[in-house]
Amino acid sequence: MHTLSPDRVVVALADIVGSRACLASGPDTAAFTTDYRGIHHGKAAAVVLPANTRELSRVMAWCHAHDVPVVPQGGNTSLMGGAVPDASGQAVVVNLRRMNQVLEVDATNDTMTVQAGVTLSAARSAAEAAGRLFPLRIGSEGSCQIGGNLSTNAGGTAVLRYGNMRDLVLGLEAVLPDGRIYSGLRGLRKDNTGYDLKQLFVGSEGTLGIITAAVLKLMPLPRSSAVAFVAVASPAAAVALLGEAKKMAGQSLTAFELVSRPALELVLAYLGDASSPLEDSHEWMVLIELTSGVDAEALDQTLMQVLEAGLEAGLVLDAAVAASGADAQAFWRIREEISDAQTRTGGSIKCDVSVPLSRIAPFIEHATAAVLALQPRARMVIYGHMGDGNVHFNPLRPADCTAPAFLSACYEPVSHAVDSLAHAAGGSISAEHGIGVAKRDDLTLYKSPVELALMWQIKRALDPKNLLNPAKLLLDAPSVDAFDS
Ligand SMILES: Cc1cc2nc3c(=O)[nH]c(=O)nc-3n(C[C@H](O)[C@H](O)[C@H](O)COP(=O)(O)OP(=O)(O)OC[C@H]3O[C@@H](n4cnc5c(N)ncnc54)[C@H](O)[C@@H]3O)c2cc1C
Repeated sequence: MHTLSPDRVVVALADIVGSRACLASGPDTAAFTTDYRGIHHGKAAAVVLPANTRELSRVMAWCHAHDVPVVPQGGNTSLMGGAVPDASGQAVVVNLRRMNQVLEVDATNDTMTVQAGVTLSAARSAAEAAGRLFPLRIGSEGSCQIGGNLSTNAGGTAVLRYGNMRDLVLGLEAVLPDGRIYSGLRGLRKDNTGYDLKQLFVGSEGTLGIITAAVLKLMPLPRSSAVAFVAVASPAAAVALLGEAKKMAGQSLTAFELVSRPALELVLAYLGDASSPLEDSHEWMVLIELTSGVDAEALDQTLMQVLEAGLEAGLVLDAAVAASGADAQAFWRIREEISDAQTRTGGSIKCDVSVPLSRIAPFIEHATAAVLALQPRARMVIYGHMGDGNVHFNPLRPADCTAPAFLSACYEPVSHAVDSLAHAAGGSISAEHGIGVAKRDDLTLYKSPVELALMWQIKRALDPKNLLNPAKLLLDAPSVDAFDS
């Protein structure tokens, strides 16, 4: 705990970044201290917006010397409360949005070097302008930043084909908690020169260093796509259809997203101007996307073959195939807006779990039964990236129950039931959203003592004063004795 007044912190940091880039706590900083969903509200001694890595390095060195905690922040779209400070008013928020330059697109090397504050949509546009694809695709792409994507190891709807952020990064630059700069901005696909240090920062949720720039992989830009919204007999039928699609479409299978009936009903009510692509109501649906460098006709044929095989096997009940780009966009809009529909409705218990594909159908069945035993009228908003085993299992309050009443009665038992079933099925309690503060206490239930001790040892090696995003991801540092036992 430092004893500096906020004024002293503001004056010292304004001296480094300039007074316009160092905001004192007040109405101007509310957007930096409240999370996307409006659940986590904190207070900052100051909000700092550095212009470059050198400035940030000096900010970090000053904070380190004066024991001032620092919370790194990108687009502040975290769903886990990871990017906002606690209520103590001790911490400085470092927001990267001024470091928003695309430094280089190397089309020959199929790489792009960007500063951490570049938004995902700007990175995708820069790649596209050079005839390449940066394939990360998530609903918050207009606001979230590459630094935040790396720190959370973001996933999204194209992981099935291209992998998550960990798979899409070749090099990294980061400022360490004491102000030193780790320079690893290399665009190499082969580099066996010891520990892969960049990967330490990926998925570490801003607890080990502040990412300032990255070299990202680029892919060939697809020339065609084929999209269908498909009613399936059950989650098990969806898994079987996924197997057929992998066999028949191979590399061109890009997305395979599950949507439950309550999820579809919720998003259609929220959008108001959209309708279901299918005539009848179905309990389970999937959105399938194929993309490729070959012509559209061949891709359409492959998609039809997958659907026909599914119909013959009794897996598919009905299907709507997008006849145009506008149709495809309308199908995707339905899928992408489910998250915001839940936020707007309120009273949603977000369980972002992953389970091996071979166990996903029984997991959904058992977790649904467990939730309905606790609250028989919960709306089972279940959707997500089934292709990579990731289910957003988000029971929603009954329509006639207020959000506070539902959450206070059900949040803990429901999350605990769903997480334990995912864990028992060999799964993870956080597939892609991270831990932040929302899942921090639960992490200790599902990680072994050895895993937790190793995580703390890494944290101590890079941040011995525990000043960088403290109490996110990991809570209390165990005593030194605990490491020896
Ligand atoms: C509508 C919506 C849809 C979403 N869909 C998906 C999805 O499909 N898949 C998915 O994975 N996520 C999804 N998310 C969650 C969120 O957008 C991602 O976690 C995203 O990667 C966060 O990026 P950000 O820049 O907003 O980071 P922030 O929210 O600002 O920060 C997230 C974490 O990273 C740290 N951090 C941020 N920038 C840096 C940096 N430069 N250096 C070090 N640490 C840093 C923060 O301290 C915090 O711990 C969604 C969110 C919304 C609102």
